[in-house]
Amino acid sequence: MKKKETLKFQSEVKRLLDILVYSLYKNREIFLRELISNAVDALNKVQFELLTDKKIEDRERELRIDIKTDKEKNMLIVEDTGIGMTRKELIDNLGTIAHSGTMDFLKKVQRKKKVEDLDLIGKFGVGFYSVFMVAKEVRILTKSFRKGSSAYLWVSQGGEEYTIEKSEKDKRGTRIEIILKEDAKEFLEEYRIENIINKHSKFVPFPIYINGKELKRKPPIWTQPKNQLKEKDYFEFYKYLTNYEEKPLTYLHISADAPYQFHALIYVPDISTDFMELFTKEPGVDLYSKKVLIRKHSKDIIPEYLNFLKGVVDSEDLPLNISRESIQDDLIVQKIKKHIVKKILEHLKNIKEKDFELYVKIWKKFGRKFKEGIISDFDNRDLLSELLLFESLKSGEGKFIDLNKYKESFEKDQTEIYYISGESYKSIEKNPSLEIFKEKGIDVLFLTDPVDEFVLEHLKVFKSFPFKAVESSDIKIGEEKREEDRELKDFIDFLKNLYGDRVADVRVSRRLTKSACTLVNPENSPSVQMERIMKIMNKDYEMSKKIFEINPNNILIKKMISLYKKDKDSDKLKNIALHLLENQMIREGLISDLNNYLERSEKIMLETL
Ligand code: ADP
Ligand code: MG
Repeated sequence: MKKKETLKFQSEVKRLLDILVYSLYKNREIFLRELISNAVDALNKVQFELLTDKKIEDRERELRIDIKTDKEKNMLIVEDTGIGMTRKELIDNLGTIAHSGTMDFLKKVQRKKKVEDLDLIGKFGVGFYSVFMVAKEVRILTKSFRKGSSAYLWVSQGGEEYTIEKSEKDKRGTRIEIILKEDAKEFLEEYRIENIINKHSKFVPFPIYINGKELKRKPPIWTQPKNQLKEKDYFEFYKYLTNYEEKPLTYLHISADAPYQFHALIYVPDISTDFMELFTKEPGVDLYSKKVLIRKHSKDIIPEYLNFLKGVVDSEDLPLNISRESIQDDLIVQKIKKHIVKKILEHLKNIKEKDFELYVKIWKKFGRKFKEGIISDFDNRDLLSELLLFESLKSGEGKFIDLNKYKESFEKDQTEIYYISGESYKSIEKNPSLEIFKEKGIDVLFLTDPVDEFVLEHLKVFKSFPFKAVESSDIKIGEEKREEDRELKDFIDFLKNLYGDRVADVRVSRRLTKSACTLVNPENSPSVQMERIMKIMNKDYEMSKKIFEINPNNILIKKMISLYKKDKDSDKLKNIALHLLENQMIREGLISDLNNYLERSEKIMLETL
């Protein structure tokens, strides 16, 4: 028989232990939640294995969790009849951090070093190691469910190392003995333990015994009829499921019988956008078949863009022996998925119509996800487009409208949905291309998120009305082309000559009412915003040429024309005309070398003086 071995913890584990032990995290009772949650995982796994694998130790053994106290030895014991661990599993699972969530936690704490971040411990549930907040020593006696496995004893005081040796245990499962610290004796009191379980582990799907006495259990909430459940029940289950203290923004309970039976309980969490990235990495919905957990964080039952949702789906119609690999190909899973997604999107649409304020909150957190859906989920594109919100010319900064509202505001004869993109509301608002829209009272969507244009390009139309950038040259509003007089025509030719191939064309504007000039996009060419993104992705990308539009009613243009009449070769006029173009190009970020511009500026200044 092998002797006792001493092994070192991975350095990340050591760091985590330091944080846990020295931070004096006030809510250390969560260690019990973590141990019970691991026991549940181990039991879920054995339950799943029992469905398929015949070669299992102690087949008939009850699936249960036992919590025992021994006041004399100052010891708390948490025991389960789950899958247990082999020697290698002990080393891999408890000597290193495999869990990406825990690694993320470490990085976050490292980066911010703020004490409040320790609340993340609660949310993440940093798992097994939290036991060292209350333990002087931890002894794990475990035996794997695989036939013929040996038992092992793992011991650690939470410092730098742990020991492993072969041991004796007659039945499958894991027994964790915790020698409590002097200041943690409260965890030997039955009422305290019961209280913690009620608070954090109420919905555990296996019986829990405290010193041999079975605790009352709650049946899985999703299988109960809706009319027997209160909001409070839903919130409690949510807390159990996620460890989040904040209430969910909304939830949806779906039960269907035909053509396939399933229950689904889905929540929209209220996570702060700061931590979004950390908390939406893994899908948040678990898949059950006949109350047996088939897969935690299932990738198969909810599309990726809805990863932020939390909840469970349980179907009687899934074959129990379905292998983890074949879930995604299962026809019933696909149908249930389709059904659920549709219901969720409809639910969100409903909120938008009935409680707009709440919807705006949801939108601010997850609007990006809905946009992602428009690109990836073709089947639900129409429904998703109903969920889009925008700021607009008429809505004002920070206020939102949806596309229906935009449509309702159509001016007579309007047949297009206009949009304009830019960095921020304020910067867009000043764009001269909006002048004609302001004058005619036509609303324009303001796109400030760089992905917005891709999204609208994907949609192309909303309820058969096409999206159109206000800068595109063929918008269907503005005055009919006025008769161009001779002088104006000559002046435009003069500009065309002067600008050469720096612009695609020069012409009289239909969209300007105040400003002197603006640059617009030739039909079918990408917008400036879009081109900027392309330029970032590919340095050699050639920006397409713009059309230069002038407004003959503007005083500056008027004066230029009269100067042109007097002296067709005026250097002063040429300099001003070049400046006129370059001002616009600079505004759009189309000129990087400003030397000529600045030199000319000085000339013009000198002349003015
Ligand atoms: P997580 O549960 O998020 O994976 P933990 O730190 O809580 O992280 O646990 C680490 C790993 O240790 C688990 O994934 C599991 O493989 C193993 N483990 C912990 N407790 C038990 C147990 N009671 N039975 C079997 N395996 C366990
Ligand atoms: Mg765990």
